[in-house]
Amino acid sequence: MRRKIVAGNWKMNTLPSEGLALAKDVIAKSGEVSGDVELVIIPPFTHLSEVTKLASGTRIAVGAQNCARWQSGAYTGEVSAAMLGAMGVDYVIIGHSERREYFGETNAHLYEKIKQALANNLMPIFCCGEKLDEREANRHFQVVQQQVEESLFALDEGNIKQVVIAYEPVWAIGTGRTATAEQAQEMHAHIRKLLANKFGSAIADSISILYGGSCKPSNAAEIFAKPDVDGGLIGGASLVAADFIAIAKSF
Ligand code: PEP
Repeated sequence: MRRKIVAGNWKMNTLPSEGLALAKDVIAKSGEVSGDVELVIIPPFTHLSEVTKLASGTRIAVGAQNCARWQSGAYTGEVSAAMLGAMGVDYVIIGHSERREYFGETNAHLYEKIKQALANNLMPIFCCGEKLDEREANRHFQVVQQQVEESLFALDEGNIKQVVIAYEPVWAIGTGRTATAEQAQEMHAHIRKLLANKFGSAIADSISILYGGSCKPSNAAEIFAKPDVDGGLIGGASLVAADFIAIAKSF
């Protein structure tokens, strides 16, 4: 049985007071969601201390949007996985396309970040996905394969089992243009096959693969109904508690 997960990536949105209000609203509404769906909220770093306290003892897990690829030291402006773990954070997004694009994160960097996350008992949500020109050139399967191979294949079996994968086609993020349920399914099946070839089918079948990219209450049910889609990484719609909860109710 794979875990069903709906995770809300707030990105660089909300002031601390607004983030706390949003977290409270999500917690208040979380009872509407089936108990077998894990709900994760992923606020900016500045809110994590308060949000983890608020979420403690509720069904809501908390994630961070990034972590350093180093353990500690002279890396001004960075936040380590150990710091996040000490605050009670459960998950960390690794390799969101915005980090790859604006901060030059490479597949090799992401492997190092995943190792840091795992060493500090954080579950990485590893993002992969092709850009529009790569899909139009019919290179999407190849691009995602390279991302998965270069960031995940050096992990051992114990570690890979802790990883959640999010397939997020870059052309669908924040654009209002969602992948069709069929496009999501075929890529998720492709990723699962890559994992099966490398780690065996029992492990591949246990890894949750989320879809991300303009997921909203109106399209979530169709996407989540696909056999290899185990939930969603939600950007814009996660900033409205009612929409986030409505998406999670789509299972
Ligand atoms: C994301 O940033 O991970 C994302 C999926 O964004 P959006 O839902 O806004 O497309």
